[in-house]
Amino acid sequence: MRVVFLGTGSSLGTPMIGCTCRVCTSNDSRDKRLRTSVYIESRGERILIDPGPDFRAQCLHHGIRQIDSFLITHPHRDHIGGLDDTRAVYYAMNKRPLQFFAEDFTLEGIHKYYDYLFPADGNRRYHGAPGAVFHRVEAFRPFGTMKNEVVPFRAWHGSMPVTGFRIGRLVYLTDVKEVPAETAELIRPDDVLVLGALQRELHAIHFNLDEALDFVEKVNPARTYLTHIGHRMGKHADLEAQLPENIRPAYDGLVIEI
Ligand SMILES: [Zn+2]
Ligand SMILES: [Zn+2]
Repeated sequence: MRVVFLGTGSSLGTPMIGCTCRVCTSNDSRDKRLRTSVYIESRGERILIDPGPDFRAQCLHHGIRQIDSFLITHPHRDHIGGLDDTRAVYYAMNKRPLQFFAEDFTLEGIHKYYDYLFPADGNRRYHGAPGAVFHRVEAFRPFGTMKNEVVPFRAWHGSMPVTGFRIGRLVYLTDVKEVPAETAELIRPDDVLVLGALQRELHAIHFNLDEALDFVEKVNPARTYLTHIGHRMGKHADLEAQLPENIRPAYDGLVIEI
């Protein structure tokens, strides 16, 4: 399995418009973070988690033309803001309907914010709307995509639920503030965990660095990559130097093989 980090940034990205802090003005390319998303190739299937507002630029940059399955964690705009651009994937795949997998609360958000594109009643009003199939998934009930088994699980993003996903040994868990024990128990010693960690200060709906590190210590996966990193986390190089060897800050363009 190959995992490409398309974006590892917070909801406003880094650099953030108008910010002159040392991270936003850094020359290190690893301090430039688009909105959080990953592209996965596994068993011949192409999977994308969270088509955010940078989806188009990320696909063009990485030469991604076709996507067999979209998994979506939650309906915040930084995770679904690229849905309009998925039309291009629909055309590139000769109008094979796009396959979306998400829980109810996410599907409701998609139908609400993209009503012209994906109306809940299926009654398309916009001639450019892509064909799409929405698969309703439920936390802790494994489901099949084209060629992979995926296990969705529950975490909390403040008062909003958020869906984590396991594909093989990859566990993807971002935008979390609370992870219930039944989810933590599913993480195994040979797993590779991708975990959201926003900043050093406490935050109402995101793990900060200490909370993320405590969680990693508790569940003890083989390797962890931090993502959804905001500019207030400091520079990538400083963060990397501070972390133990088995916990790495991800950066845009990082590719890992699992
Ligand atoms: Zn987010
Ligand atoms: Zn969010």
